[in-house]
Amino acid sequence: MSTAITRDYTPGFYEGDRPKIVTSRFEYEDSHTIERFEATGGYEGLKAALAMGPEAMSGEVKASTLLGRGGAGFPAGVKWGFTPQGVWPRYLVVNGDESEPGTYKDRLLMERDPHQLIEGCLIASYAAGLSQCFLYVRGEMPLAHERIAKALDDAYAAGYIGKNILGSDFSMDIVLHWGAGAYVVGEETALIESLEGERGMPRLKPPYFPAAVGLYGQPTIVNNVETLANLPFIAANGSAAFTSIGTETSPGTRMVAISGHVKRPGVYEIVNGSTSFRDIIYGDEFCQGIRDGNELKAFVPGGGSAPWFLPDQLDIQFESKQAGAAGSMLGSGAVMVMDDTTDIPEMALTLVRFYAHESCGKCVPCREGGTWLLRIVERICSGHGTDADLDQLLEVGQSICPGEMPHASSERLGLEAVPFPYKMTTICFVGPSAYASIHSPLTLFRDEFEAKVVPAPKRVSIPVAAG
Ligand code: SF4
Repeated sequence: MSTAITRDYTPGFYEGDRPKIVTSRFEYEDSHTIERFEATGGYEGLKAALAMGPEAMSGEVKASTLLGRGGAGFPAGVKWGFTPQGVWPRYLVVNGDESEPGTYKDRLLMERDPHQLIEGCLIASYAAGLSQCFLYVRGEMPLAHERIAKALDDAYAAGYIGKNILGSDFSMDIVLHWGAGAYVVGEETALIESLEGERGMPRLKPPYFPAAVGLYGQPTIVNNVETLANLPFIAANGSAAFTSIGTETSPGTRMVAISGHVKRPGVYEIVNGSTSFRDIIYGDEFCQGIRDGNELKAFVPGGGSAPWFLPDQLDIQFESKQAGAAGSMLGSGAVMVMDDTTDIPEMALTLVRFYAHESCGKCVPCREGGTWLLRIVERICSGHGTDADLDQLLEVGQSICPGEMPHASSERLGLEAVPFPYKMTTICFVGPSAYASIHSPLTLFRDEFEAKVVPAPKRVSIPVAAG
């Protein structure tokens, strides 16, 4: 719990002794309106930023060591510093294309508190010297789109966006863009291509970072929704208040979306580093245990492509470094829980089907490999697979991720621990995700796959008659 908070930032900031930075208004039915936002401390962070100046504001974000909440976990303030000096215009692009299986936290932030996101965009642009902001929202989120559009209208009318914001020399426009609904557009260069009106396919690297060459060839910062939603708090309360919550390596809070076989699935804001997976799955203030009195069988700690954890790993803290040290990742902050009634091969099929379907087709190992993986798992689940298919899955995976895959149970399985990132033959992580989503289930629950297959027919050599 924080002791350095100088004042309650908004009503509902604390729930018990658990601080809430980005979900404090979720308890209000009208949390998406400008009236509620202004009545609960809204746009105070922007005013504080304008009062301290861009350099000081940028320094506060750097000092906060706010880590990106989109998956990579890169420090936001450092990322902003990658833009080259003296190149204009430069843009902010908001990645609201959330679509990792099991992940739905950013959607709630956009639907329930769109002004907080807008305020975060304004603070980021002011601090990093960005001239225009593009808010890219996933196509399947019409309510988020509708509420952000209304919030933008209201914020323009109130003088928070536009020319000479709140009487300052800071001017800024925000453009709302509705995506067409493709998972791969969550990759930042694919999102930029889509914004430019091209097909949403990842760009070849280098250049590695849009901060150097991004939207319309200009320096571009791409930030995740939850990352930006933290900025009003940091601006209004200072970096020390932020770093007093969480751990030294992962300050602040984190939104976790929990789905699957728990009694109370949902999105919870937890304190980084002091909340274990056991707390999240069994805690009274979170999911309250497994449904129907069943036992936990396995859980995915960070979105569909993360290596799976087993029940004896429940006491690992929900914190990037600790999950990484245990062989997995927190990724998009989505925990998928499976109880002991789960058919593991069917679960793997659901995940592989998603990634194979979402391949943009630009590189062969993903386009062909993902489809092969899907067909083989479909064959196994329909009872037509053979034991040769099991090794074939791992072989196909090798064409996408050569070498060993990271595994959250290396020690238990007598395997050498392999750290992230793994080797890959593809342009982006969609191809490896297809393999990762079958690798954990197959290596941890091979017996369940074996129970669905028959021995492969023996190969018969037909002698060729001489002469
Ligand atoms: Fe497209 Fe898949 Fe290659 Fe990514 S890995 S660029 S989704 S084909």
